Amino acid sequence: MPLLDAETRQALEARLRFYRELGLTDFYRRPVAGSGNPVTESSAVLTSDEDLAQHTELNAEETTSIPPRKPIFAPPPLSVELSEDRAAGLRLIQEDIGDCTRCALHKGRNKIVFGDGDAEARLMFVGEGPGADEDAQGLPFVGRAGQLLNNMIGAMGLKREQVYIANVVKCRPPQNRTPEPEEANTCSPFLFRQIDVVRPEVIVALGATAATYLLGQRQPLAGLRGRVHAWRGSKLIVTYHPAFLLRDPRQKKEAWADLQIAMRELGLKAPSKSVT
Ligand code: URA
Repeated sequence: MPLLDAETRQALEARLRFYRELGLTDFYRRPVAGSGNPVTESSAVLTSDEDLAQHTELNAEETTSIPPRKPIFAPPPLSVELSEDRAAGLRLIQEDIGDCTRCALHKGRNKIVFGDGDAEARLMFVGEGPGADEDAQGLPFVGRAGQLLNNMIGAMGLKREQVYIANVVKCRPPQNRTPEPEEANTCSPFLFRQIDVVRPEVIVALGATAATYLLGQRQPLAGLRGRVHAWRGSKLIVTYHPAFLLRDPRQKKEAWADLQIAMRELGLKAPSKSVT
């Protein structure tokens, strides 16, 4: 029988999502006094986002069987799709993806969201995965989070058409949940190929999932933000996901500071206005 009523569970899920977007993915459960269900610290670690999703229905058995952390693959070596015709290179990747059924996400998708923007962009944004609007239109970041991303791009003095945008996974996860490692590990090689074709000078990872799969390791967002990571020939900057900023607009100042690092690296002049 579930220990939590629906309202508490929903609140807990929202809180865990909030922590996840901050890059905090390790959680511990304290033993509940008098529950008859002692939980030792070492056995009680909920290791990751996907575990969280599974564990939000907190019941007695879960406290004794904690699944091990699933691996995140290291990015593959730079591919040699270094054709000068980058748009053609991207088309080739899209053809390779085809009507993809490589992971379970294909079952619920309407459209594959390959990517969007300038194949020769100096700046690339990487998100997590399509939501409902993106799934319907086949384009990344076209919903509410996308509007905010457009504003962020505009605040940098750029137009959306001047950047390239893609996601870790190309099919919408059910209920917009975080992609499972199996899904992300299956799909991300296509993202790496896109990056290798576009060869952006700067990549902005939007949120913990993008940062995790680009860097090939889980780390709290707090430790990754605010600096430049040399990555695959590009400069990688990590910031908050726009969906997180919609939930917690106070963090926009921090995100703007990250974007200013990207602008500095691109030699863009800082306009006076910040992200709204
Ligand atoms: N969130 C993402 O991470 N990607 C999208 O394309 C849309 C919302």
